[in-house]
Amino acid sequence: SSNKHDKEKGVNVQVIVRCRPLSDDEMRLHTPVVISCHESRREVSAIQTIANKQIDRTFAFDKVFGPASQQRELYDLAVSPIVYEVLEGYNCTIFAYGQTGTGKTYTMEGGARKKNGEFPSDAGVIPRAVKQIFDILEAQNAEYNMKVTFLELYNEEITDLLAPEETSKFIDDKSKKPIALMEDGKGGVFVRGLEEEMVCTANEIYKILERGSAKRRTAETLLNKQSSRSHSIFSITIHIKECTPEGEEMIKCGKLNLVDLAGSENISRSGAREGRAREAGEINKSLLTLGRVINALVEHSGHVPYRDSKLTRLLRDSLGGKTKTCIIATISPSIHCLEETLSTLDYAHRAK
Ligand code: ADP
Ligand code: MG
Repeated sequence: SSNKHDKEKGVNVQVIVRCRPLSDDEMRLHTPVVISCHESRREVSAIQTIANKQIDRTFAFDKVFGPASQQRELYDLAVSPIVYEVLEGYNCTIFAYGQTGTGKTYTMEGGARKKNGEFPSDAGVIPRAVKQIFDILEAQNAEYNMKVTFLELYNEEITDLLAPEETSKFIDDKSKKPIALMEDGKGGVFVRGLEEEMVCTANEIYKILERGSAKRRTAETLLNKQSSRSHSIFSITIHIKECTPEGEEMIKCGKLNLVDLAGSENISRSGAREGRAREAGEINKSLLTLGRVINALVEHSGHVPYRDSKLTRLLRDSLGGKTKTCIIATISPSIHCLEETLSTLDYAHRAK
């Protein structure tokens, strides 16, 4: 979607594709590669063999990152411009969408943990965004405050990844009120009981991110569930004090949501099966509704079905209107993933 086009429609959705490299195991097994990325043409081709015939399907996106692309490259080209928009007072959302094992968490959080205060080269979008935000604010000598929230959505239920252990599902032990999504009476929503941490330095955010991610992993093990079936939303809200040329004080507010979505295979495969039906249904609900909301926004159709899932209700103030959205669709180059890859490319392409 070109910029001119976006402005006319008043929506700004950018869709990019990132293909991961083959893993060491896949290399050892000589797994055939069926995806080719043309970064300069911004195209991805999938080669499908049906009845001994080769069929090439080519999709165009706003940006394409091949298997050799580095974290820094993706950040600088696709994410960094969005962070400037956040500091200009936009609400922006970056989604990682794709099959489990294709690099959503790698892209958002990154591979290695921070060592001896050094910034690792495979740090993902979240730590890089945090660093850029603080760097810019400090360079501008800005007066600001910043708060972060980190939550997980599983089965349409919210878990606070920043709450102290015993209160993760309840605001306090006496009332035992579960964390709930409430209407604020002005068309917006808020999460009752959600921990909001004020932060003053990038280091504080890295610690919070690590604490939340560790909690996500622990909860997975305890409940025997997989992160592949939950969505996580890390949000940074920034208020910046500014003076107009007339000397009036103004507060500019921007928000950045960084969303690691549930594995997209949950849409295509688990759907109708009994037993896991509720779970599959609920996961489908958020992923499918997100797709419908984005389609409605890019097609500028009247009704946007925000209310149909918790994910879209939560992100309502950051989807549509004066906002920017970036979807990073992650794919595998392997022949064994081809079917899922095609459905990811279809979903992502429809969002354009
Ligand atoms: P997902 O969150 O989509 O399930 P992960 O982020 O956990 O997938 O990635 C699966 C594996 O592939 C991890 O070991 C990760 O380090 C590796 N990986 C993913 N994307 C890349 C990439 N672009 N470069 C190198 N390794 C990657
Ligand atoms: Mg993951």
